[in-house]
Amino acid sequence: MALIVLKFGGSSVKDREHIFNAARIIGRWRNEGNDVVTVVSAQGDTTDDLIEKAGEITHDPSKREMDMLLSTGEQISAALLAMALETLGCPAISLTGRQAGFQTDRTYMSARIRMLDTERIESELSRNRVVVVTGFQGVNQYDDITTLGRGGSDTSAVAIAAALHAERCCIYTDVDGVYTADPRLVPNARRLDEITFDEMLELATLGAQVLNSRSVELAKKYSVCLEVRSSLTDKPGTIVKEVTDVEGMLIKGVTKDKNVAVINVLEVPDVPGASFKIFSLMAQKNINVDVILQSSGKPDCKDVIFTVPEPDADTAVSVLTEYLPRFGGRSVSVDKNVAKVSVVGAGMQSHSGIASRMFEALYESNINIRMISTSEIKISVLIAESEADRAVQALHDAFLS
Ligand code: ADP
Ligand code: ASP
Ligand code: MG
Repeated sequence: MALIVLKFGGSSVKDREHIFNAARIIGRWRNEGNDVVTVVSAQGDTTDDLIEKAGEITHDPSKREMDMLLSTGEQISAALLAMALETLGCPAISLTGRQAGFQTDRTYMSARIRMLDTERIESELSRNRVVVVTGFQGVNQYDDITTLGRGGSDTSAVAIAAALHAERCCIYTDVDGVYTADPRLVPNARRLDEITFDEMLELATLGAQVLNSRSVELAKKYSVCLEVRSSLTDKPGTIVKEVTDVEGMLIKGVTKDKNVAVINVLEVPDVPGASFKIFSLMAQKNINVDVILQSSGKPDCKDVIFTVPEPDADTAVSVLTEYLPRFGGRSVSVDKNVAKVSVVGAGMQSHSGIASRMFEALYESNINIRMISTSEIKISVLIAESEADRAVQALHDAFLS
């Protein structure tokens, strides 16, 4: 008997009909002779609604209380799905993250899984039950509920699949696979049959929300066979794996990420250690710095310009402003109206001219590039946020149509 892990995202359990639909999918896997563990997200927009509710009480809620609040969304869908399974004659039990054995570090709202003790899940499976686990949550060393960050249910599912050596981890969502761009934004985007872990990791990190990037990291680390598929059709989806058989596709996808801000630290003295001081402040605040540009400004001065996730921008500015007198810079400012648009594909390692084709396509669309960053398998540009959708379409036309 094989073990399969299934994950249903918020849109796939959003109401009664969708919950029963998910229950029937689970039933089919069972009837084919598999043991099934299912991970669920909160129904529909529940997580956003809960965040809004907190905002009605305070603008600065404690992260611990936010996790207490947000984790309730997944608890509702897990209980309802277990009830639906029982109604259809399939024995089932729902478990919270804690009951399922998820132990995390102490970071509220973006905790990392430290350990997964699968004893309870395994004992329920041995009783011939479908186990329905709340995604996105665990407990930390203080016995407090923690959540894994937005989109974290994907990571919960992959973690269970890895720990139980599942044959497959199916991520059921509202699209029938991974596309060359967000199909809601680019109507002629194409579905990929297969994609490598590395390419998927870049796509996810650079804004393709169809899979959470940590889940891909984990799947690669533990060689979990991952499939992204639709809960509304029966079609096979996109397989994410180490090596793909599809040859000849240079670029696999185009992404946009509006969740970035540019920080400008201007006229810093051009002496050793200036960048160190700036970026060690960011590190102390746990802020991830991405694209960095250092340019010579006035004589003996330099401008240090870099990107951070938009939610961290205000903290970055306030800490830099506080310490500015110490390293002698002139000013700190932030621009949140930017977006990062990227093309991703392992094929670019062995091909030249990708960057020039990318810049040409943006030039032809009259889109100005503010910053550029590259890795072996991606090129990203920073542009005005208002032009991001047009840029994605133009780059998709240039490389993938
Ligand atoms: P779930 O609620 O199931 O977790 P998400 O909303 O997190 O679903 O992710 C699915 C969405 O990801 C799709 O509706 C789609 O608009 C978006 N998306 C962005 N980029 C891509 C892509 N390259 N391929 C497929 N979907 C994408
Ligand atoms: N419900 C959480 C969120 O909306 C986790 C998830 O759906 O994966 O981010
Ligand atoms: Mg998701």
